[in-house]
Amino acid sequence: MTKNIYLLLLSLVLVSCGESSNTTPTGQTAEPQKVYKWRMVTTWPKNLPGLGTAPERMVDNIRTMSNGRLDIKVYGAGEIVPALEVFEAVSQGTVQMGHGASYYWKGKVPIAQFFTAVPFGLTAQEMNGWLLHGGGLELWRELYARYNLFPIPGGNTGVQMAGWFNKEINSLEDLRGLKMRIPGLGGEVFEAAGGTAVNLPGGEIFTSMQTGVIDATEWVGPYNDLAFGLHQVAKYYYYPGWQEAGPTLEVLVNKEAWDQLPDDLKAIVETASLAGNTDMLAEYTARNNMALQELVNEHQVELRRLPDDVLAELRSIAVEKTAAIVDDDELSKRIYDSWMQYRDDVIEYHEISERAYINARAN
Ligand code: CA
Repeated sequence: MTKNIYLLLLSLVLVSCGESSNTTPTGQTAEPQKVYKWRMVTTWPKNLPGLGTAPERMVDNIRTMSNGRLDIKVYGAGEIVPALEVFEAVSQGTVQMGHGASYYWKGKVPIAQFFTAVPFGLTAQEMNGWLLHGGGLELWRELYARYNLFPIPGGNTGVQMAGWFNKEINSLEDLRGLKMRIPGLGGEVFEAAGGTAVNLPGGEIFTSMQTGVIDATEWVGPYNDLAFGLHQVAKYYYYPGWQEAGPTLEVLVNKEAWDQLPDDLKAIVETASLAGNTDMLAEYTARNNMALQELVNEHQVELRRLPDDVLAELRSIAVEKTAAIVDDDELSKRIYDSWMQYRDDVIEYHEISERAYINARAN
């Protein structure tokens, strides 16, 4: 009996010693070093250059910065859920995180498209300005809180290409009757111009073109399009990517999972995502031009610019379609107003900065 009491007292002393070893220099008792093992589903094929490798780099950084306390495993499209079910899977807590693009969810949340890209919208640099210093991210978080989600910008491809066609596009008439993979609002503009828009995840594009399920497709830009081999299934490669000038990719975190993280891990996730956001743009900027040379010089791809009158007609349809996303919900109106005001202001400023400089450099 005495021996048992002695052992009990000893164990209490040991427990309290154990606790005291967790005391921080400021004298506060630290949280136990809990390890979080999370899963991240993505809308991209596993390790696809740029879109797929960015989330892998992001979770590596999170693991290192957290000293292994937040360990996230990345899954490609279809490994746990299909590409276009990422939003639901994270919203419902099937997994803790996702990496995708908000315009994929336009059927469920139409106004979310403003947080990826709308046709003739913002460039990558302008998107980052609106989201991070122009009020956009606060609106995005307010919107996604309704779906039990916490979004963080997680990548940007820069200006995309208009896409791959097997015939020349000389007028709007040439788009009529074409079945094209083109997601988001760009797809609606394409439909209003007489085509049929299809929203296919990246991994299904090549086969769909090869088997004639679709006649034309846009994907990203030379770097990714070359990796998919799209030059093997289409002859003409058109620019500029009016439908996506600077699409932001999103990191999604399930709201309950997010709320359970201690503040230092929250800061690590947010910082790693934002680092991935700018790193992806740097990767595309460096790689796209190399890939374009290869497409044109080695694979004899016919590079074409969309005629000005075709772009002008698409633009006037886009203005109407963009305004039409706004519904009776007052938040959707606030998102639209914030975006439009910012767009008008930044266009004016970029006339005398970005555009003026690029023009000056060219001449
Ligand atoms: Ca695209």
